[in-house]
Amino acid sequence: MAYIDEVTNRLRRPDFERWMNQASSTGFCAQPVRLVGTTSTFDARTGDQIAHYSSTAEPDGITYVRCGNRRAARCPSCSYEYKADMWHLVVAGAAGGSKGVPDSVGEHPLAFVTLTAPSFGAVHAAKKPGQGSARCRPRARKLCSHGRPTWCMSIHDHDSPAVGEPLCVECYDYESHITWQWHAPELWRRFIIRLRRELAASLGVSESSARKLVRVQFAKVAEFQRRGVVHFHALIRLDGDGTELDPFPSPLVPTSADQLADLARRAARGVEVVAAPLPGELTARSLRWGSQCDARPVYRQVETEDGRLTDRAVAAYIAKYATKATEDLSAGASGTARPHISTIRRIVADAGRIAALDDESDYRLLGRWESMLGFRGHFSTKSRRYSTTLGRLRSARRDWQRKRSQTPTVIDPASADAEETTLVVSQWSFAGMGWLSAGDAALAAESAAAAREWRDSRRSNKPTNNEER
Ligand SMILES: [Zn+2]
Ligand SMILES: [Zn+2]
Ligand SMILES: [Zn+2]
Repeated sequence: MAYIDEVTNRLRRPDFERWMNQASSTGFCAQPVRLVGTTSTFDARTGDQIAHYSSTAEPDGITYVRCGNRRAARCPSCSYEYKADMWHLVVAGAAGGSKGVPDSVGEHPLAFVTLTAPSFGAVHAAKKPGQGSARCRPRARKLCSHGRPTWCMSIHDHDSPAVGEPLCVECYDYESHITWQWHAPELWRRFIIRLRRELAASLGVSESSARKLVRVQFAKVAEFQRRGVVHFHALIRLDGDGTELDPFPSPLVPTSADQLADLARRAARGVEVVAAPLPGELTARSLRWGSQCDARPVYRQVETEDGRLTDRAVAAYIAKYATKATEDLSAGASGTARPHISTIRRIVADAGRIAALDDESDYRLLGRWESMLGFRGHFSTKSRRYSTTLGRLRSARRDWQRKRSQTPTVIDPASADAEETTLVVSQWSFAGMGWLSAGDAALAAESAAAAREWRDSRRSNKPTNNEER
């Protein structure tokens, strides 16, 4: 059947509204999971059946559940939901006063930290306005040992494919680039350890005593720069020593945001990882953060009158990266400045070659991470008590959707726990992935785009609105 006929048929069916409700409860997922089965809810004391839900009552006898894929190329709706969740999570942790994070968190010292890789060789660059010459590399006027110019008089646009490309692929140190990327998560881990140490030293107490007074919480995101190397943005906050009952206490020692930023800069400078030589090499590499590292205090004020950073502005900025970085590198996600394709090819080839050289070496798993250019970390992570969790946000949303659509949650053991006096008996089986026809898929995709547009417009108008959906 032609797809336009499929759309028309769906629209004309008497159960179209119910179908739309189902599609909407998956958030108009691009490739939902199809399930058939039943859920019965009983009163645990009397044994009476309180509710019964069966897929046979649904259009086509199918119940749909969203796929949950974080990659926009696979499912724009589910990846969008993940982004919205990250946004809430980061904002709640920075500003407090939403999603179960108390207002008082807004008074804790907060710093915004950017940690970058060092230079591995000259690359073409797009200049920001007001940073001197707009030309790429106007100064040095000599040839490299391979006879290539070390300067570039071009003015590159930000999305120019040249940006991030080495001026000379033979001068560029791909081996160090890949080694650094491989160890970047370890550099981050040591940065946090070092920060705790700096903090204790600044208080003049031991680390174990310091832990009772002040704790480091963070949310961080990794992003690929155009040269194909990751850098990190993080919000770092100081709390007291939290417990399950009181997860977000204030620190017991007064520390300003400025002091926190100073300590973070010092910690970044002090961190080193000694990386084993690549197969076939003899000397180890000392890996450090690059000189572009930056740590800025974040102030709690509502308006940015004097250009200082505010928590909400920073959280929005971080959240933007949290979401960008989960895009496919190769899929060409829109609006994402991706590393140049030849850089990607070169790094993937080198990573694969290095991994294949010696299956005993520290780098034998490098090939497995080729698609992430040798970066094996998570793109967004946070410490345990930075904010609420994605899981809690999701189950709150499921509860809300269930109330709205009167549909029992299909696979959610957590919701059964929450209602101790009821017993939920479910029996479900997998009936396939995706919408039943191309017409259904098109209807879902169109509704998804409209819903995202609507929510984006609300989000940019009212950043303080907690009721996103
Ligand atoms: Zn999906
Ligand atoms: Zn250039
Ligand atoms: Zn060269």
